[in-house]
Amino acid sequence: MSFINGLKCRECGRQYEKQPIAGCEDCFAPLEIDYNYTAISRALSREVIESRPKNLWRYRELLPLDSDPVVGQSSGATPLVRAERLARALGVETLFIKNDSVNSPTLSFKDRVTAVAINKAREFGLEAVGCASTGNLANSVAANAAAAGLPAYILIPENLEQSKVIATQIYGARVIAVRGNYDDVNRLCSEIADRFPWGFVNVNLRPFYGEGSKTFGYEIAEQLGWRAPAAVVVPMAGGSLVTKIYKGLKEFERLGLLEGDVATRMFGAQAAGCNPIVDAVRRASNNIRPVKPATIAKSLAIGNPADGYHAAEIIQQSRGWAEDVTDEEIIDGIRLLAETEGIFTETAGGVTVAVARKLIAEGRLRRDELTVIAITGNGLKTQEAIELAPPAVIEPRLAKFVETVSRPASA
Ligand SMILES: *Cc1c(COP(=O)(O)O)cnc(C)c1O
Ligand SMILES: [Zn+2]
Repeated sequence: MSFINGLKCRECGRQYEKQPIAGCEDCFAPLEIDYNYTAISRALSREVIESRPKNLWRYRELLPLDSDPVVGQSSGATPLVRAERLARALGVETLFIKNDSVNSPTLSFKDRVTAVAINKAREFGLEAVGCASTGNLANSVAANAAAAGLPAYILIPENLEQSKVIATQIYGARVIAVRGNYDDVNRLCSEIADRFPWGFVNVNLRPFYGEGSKTFGYEIAEQLGWRAPAAVVVPMAGGSLVTKIYKGLKEFERLGLLEGDVATRMFGAQAAGCNPIVDAVRRASNNIRPVKPATIAKSLAIGNPADGYHAAEIIQQSRGWAEDVTDEEIIDGIRLLAETEGIFTETAGGVTVAVARKLIAEGRLRRDELTVIAITGNGLKTQEAIELAPPAVIEPRLAKFVETVSRPASA
């Protein structure tokens, strides 16, 4: 049975049938899935969820599919780890890391959104799929399209990290690099979506795709023992994930699945070189002023974020805040997480850790609050960002080893 009534415009409320569609035809605002929460609350309980396999489909009534998923069986159910050493380094008591750098199949949180979008493309009978991507979405669409047996057309900015390009092409996707930044790529992608009858996951499948991000929030709550955290720090590109984690927590509250209520404050993280949502929050506004990105955090480099308005709104409404950090601080964040917790994250994760550190120093994140940091991508994909001295090379003799380790390592 279906738990979805259809689609609904977030601004004007106009209703639509379930279909591939980019936004409201009247007011161009994003469309939301219109769920039948009464039916969902009859079908879903903690016991039902706990009895299911550990992947994101354990929350399937809250995801917009009408049939059994054919891809995404390995996605979601990533670790929520207590980060005691990082907590001590940052000066807080209770810190957790939600670690999507080990999400499957492609090592980022994008495996959640793509699982929903590719299954939806199959349900709609679309012949091919595609996306505009800053890298991780490209990897995930290519992998899941291959697993679903669909051709994929993937548009990326020309300057993307090598690992992200290879980890897209390997799946047999058609990868096209565009001279320009993500916003140029996205504009072209919208034109292509008008011309070809394909499913573009972040254009005409966007209302469905975004819902996959809610599972990041569901899992945090379930892993905390059916409780919402006091604060979550989330990296922002298009601004969708930060809003969907909050939506997920609120849905769990509404369905009576949580101990206590949701008083979670949402904190957004961006690079100083691409901070349009942070800038809006600082002005106490929801109005995004687009910027031209210049940062090593390429996966977050969206100068004109599609959900920027909504992200700024949720951050302010939840009494959170947003901060940005420099490229140097991003590198420090990556190293700090690796050295304290043994987790190698990509530049976006460096942004999140560095912003959390800043928020704690500013007193905006309080020492005694249960805080979750969203680590969304894997460091093996953005190795260009890190410069380390090469390892010492020695002859295979014990004396050489002893001599080498008795000298301080060059940083
Ligand atoms: C896409 C992405 C984000 C941000 O996602 P939005 O929903 O577009 O804000 C965060 N981290 C990583 C690693 C990503 O690839
Ligand atoms: Zn509308």
